[in-house]
Amino acid sequence: MRTRFAPSPTGLLHVGGLRTALFNYLIAKKTGGTFILRIEDTDQEREEDGALENILSTLNWAGISPDEGVVLKDGKITELGDYGPYTQSNRLDIYKKYVKELVDNGHAYLAFDTKEELDQMREQEQKAGNPSPKYDYSIRMRMCNSLTLSSDEVSERLKKNTPHVIRLKTPEGRKIQAQDIIRGKVEFQSHTIDDAVLLKSDGFPTYHLANVVDDHLMEIDLVIRGEEWLPSLPKHILLYEAFGWKAPEFAHVPLLMNQGGGKLSKRQGDVSASIYSDKGYLPGVMINFLALLGWNPGTTEEIFTMSELIEKFSLDRIQKAGAVFDTEKLDWLQGQWIRRMTVIEFADLIRPIVAEKYPDANNDDNFLSRACLIQERITFFNEAPEMFSYIYERPSIDKKLIANKKQKVTLDIVPKILSVIIEDLNCLGGGELDWNLENLKTTLFALAESKGYKNGQILWPMRAILTGLPYSPGAFEVAEILGREETLDRLKEAQKAF
Ligand code: GLU
Repeated sequence: MRTRFAPSPTGLLHVGGLRTALFNYLIAKKTGGTFILRIEDTDQEREEDGALENILSTLNWAGISPDEGVVLKDGKITELGDYGPYTQSNRLDIYKKYVKELVDNGHAYLAFDTKEELDQMREQEQKAGNPSPKYDYSIRMRMCNSLTLSSDEVSERLKKNTPHVIRLKTPEGRKIQAQDIIRGKVEFQSHTIDDAVLLKSDGFPTYHLANVVDDHLMEIDLVIRGEEWLPSLPKHILLYEAFGWKAPEFAHVPLLMNQGGGKLSKRQGDVSASIYSDKGYLPGVMINFLALLGWNPGTTEEIFTMSELIEKFSLDRIQKAGAVFDTEKLDWLQGQWIRRMTVIEFADLIRPIVAEKYPDANNDDNFLSRACLIQERITFFNEAPEMFSYIYERPSIDKKLIANKKQKVTLDIVPKILSVIIEDLNCLGGGELDWNLENLKTTLFALAESKGYKNGQILWPMRAILTGLPYSPGAFEVAEILGREETLDRLKEAQKAF
């Protein structure tokens, strides 16, 4: 199938847009088809610098780069494919040609009304009890257009370059029906639809005209887009009919909601997709998360790689109700993805990040076992240097951290505790067979018991001294990873501070 993502470059790519792109991508890949990126830049006033770059780099980051259309090639924006141009502002002649066809066959007409005339019409209608007047069948015959003017008058105006728009002649009293893959049969009454502007007075098409012409000419089989476009569907259906073209299939995906059930909006947090890459989420995690917004596999499974999604995704498992954008779930997924990596994969990813702060990490033969220690607890890779800080740097003695009410550690008992720990650990050899998790556990638990301390009174100060961190792996793990000599040195050093 040929599917497309057709964003307008009016700002940073929204997470909802990235989800729409993903669904289109998945269907294209599943069917051995083509995923196209078309840029809908017909509203030049709303365009924002850098928006196109952001759309492309975010799609690239997420691993769903377009196969055709506007693409990034060697870091440069370019167009690829036989159906171009793929940027609507470069297709103005095409829209003019097609809209002329509609005028010629009576499905559209030229309207010369000035802004003042339109305002006046609205005012009169409101006075007459019509609260939301629109330019439609009930009004068009009172206005200044090619339906009410003689052909000579029209030619005269065109000769004088009188500004005008071209409007769709929406039929009166018709039921407009369409089939939506997610919603089933959808029906609209034509009297609710205005004579939409198709071509603006500046020669630019509106969204409706350009969208329909392009989906037809680019041979799009299926349009997957946000539910907010559903009200535009009857206009599009009318246009397909007017042109005598077969419409593509449609699937309008549910809106993204915030936790409170409202529409996800900028005010409630981060809605730009690239913020999630900046924050350090893995692209696979973001894709996994977005896929589950509105779609479910029909099982309790929640972790999916891209290839699993391509295999399992189907439009008939998309819900109609809004999908809640739950960032706690996103964090959970990130954790799940990290835990599922092999240690080698994980270590390869974090080593360069750690080495930026601690170059020793680059030639650390024990890096793998050290990485293992944090793989279970890390959420973002940029936390890694901090989590490794005590390995590559001796922490300073933080008495506030060492004292701990909950563990019943007061500073006055610390010197005694340190000396018994050092005494007992001294008896352990430094080789792997002696200095390991099991032996450290046995030794320190036995020490607590024999000297009448609670386990926490031994383990907390030892861990706090060895790491200088409020959270870290436990004392045994840390001691094992630091080795005998370094552990004892740090404990002895601490003795001096008390
Ligand atoms: N340009 C529209 C947008 O910004 C495209 C809607 C559609 O897919 O038809 O989302």
